Amino acid sequence: MKYRSLNDKNHKVSFEDAVVRGLAPGKALYFPEDIPKLSPDFFQNLDKYSKEEIAYEAIKAFVGDEIEKNSLQEILKKTLNFEFPVVPISENIGTLELFHGPTLAFKDVGAGFMAGCLGHFVKKGNLGKITVLVATSGDTGGAVANGFLGVEGIDVVILYPKGKVSEIQEKQLTTLGQNITALEVNGNFDDCQDMVKKAFSDSEISAKRQLTSANSINVARWLPQMFYYFFAYKQLAEKKAKLAFSVPSGNFGNICAGMLAKQMGLPIDHFIASNNENNVVTRYLKSKEYAPKQSVQTISNAMDVGTPSNFVRILELFDNEFNSLSQQLSSFSYSDDETRNAIKEVKQKYNYVMDPHGAVGYLGLQDFLAENPEYYGTFLETAHPVKFLETVEEVIGEKVEIPDSIKEVMNKEKKSFEISDYAELKDFLMR
Ligand SMILES: *Cc1c(COP(=O)(O)O)cnc(C)c1O
Repeated sequence: MKYRSLNDKNHKVSFEDAVVRGLAPGKALYFPEDIPKLSPDFFQNLDKYSKEEIAYEAIKAFVGDEIEKNSLQEILKKTLNFEFPVVPISENIGTLELFHGPTLAFKDVGAGFMAGCLGHFVKKGNLGKITVLVATSGDTGGAVANGFLGVEGIDVVILYPKGKVSEIQEKQLTTLGQNITALEVNGNFDDCQDMVKKAFSDSEISAKRQLTSANSINVARWLPQMFYYFFAYKQLAEKKAKLAFSVPSGNFGNICAGMLAKQMGLPIDHFIASNNENNVVTRYLKSKEYAPKQSVQTISNAMDVGTPSNFVRILELFDNEFNSLSQQLSSFSYSDDETRNAIKEVKQKYNYVMDPHGAVGYLGLQDFLAENPEYYGTFLETAHPVKFLETVEEVIGEKVEIPDSIKEVMNKEKKSFEISDYAELKDFLMR
């Protein structure tokens, strides 16, 4: 499979190059040259396949012969070593829990798969040593750190804003050691991101280190997210109803992977992009006008994105045709108060505790089902409620049980280097 630049259809690269580079020239996104179709037989017999087998069938055309079968299966096995259950909430609503991975958020799958692929390409030979440089506002850093931990030939440097990530998130970033270094930046997330961008265009640094990024625009982080929808379908096929998925969306990588799975033949009927007040896509589907805005801070902070990078990939899936897109995609947006009320309501009515992101997904699904009662709806729970402990406990008025893996990380010692400006980052990278 070749990947083409969305800005220049003549620029085509291999899977390996797309993974190593992350972005095409001019900061454009890579997109698969064609979308493979899987046989209807495969979908009808999904219950006979293990999750590793399903994932292999879904991803193999995208990787091609660049990673041999055994190695690809090994990467998938390591990435997918936890469960993806659909938990029933009510008669026509279920939630797909994506938080059973090592850092309790759905980004573990994308980060693990990318780490596996990049590690494989480094081991194979001619790339040399690589430094993954990434800025995080919370969940990305932990997932990337965990995914790349101990991967030979790859160093990971994570920048996070001092005092602006949750205690759990900070521990997940700073306690791993080995090839993972955490830099605690005196500033906010935008400062972290600016420093990272500057480092990528600094020729003195690139002469010394080969830098790559691990954010969600990388095809190796984006594509494996389609597995979730296959795993869910396997559990939902017996419903014999039309299926809708509501995806709490920020950068739109997750939902875009779901829509890709549908084009590969997965029998999903409708998608709902559920937004917090960062609602550029909700507004677009209403007005046909795409008007990005500066992001605003909300309690579902992993979705505080003003300009969703992956939305161009969704447009590409539909040849930029508004009408065909709007037949398969609805979008709704909710305030923090509405989100809190949903957490409270679902706890009271169904005794299920949602995190703020899942709650936004639940709200979008409810609004869709009100108009389309013939559907069975699934919303994605993208993070464990414990990752947003303060908000959730305050709303439900109860303690949330802390999983053992978190207790363990909370007892480890934080190790980070504090930096205040770009010169200090550069010093660190030039060592
Ligand atoms: C990253 C993240 C999202 C948003 O996913 P996108 O693919 O960027 O749309 C939603 N919820 C949680 C908990 C996240 O960490």
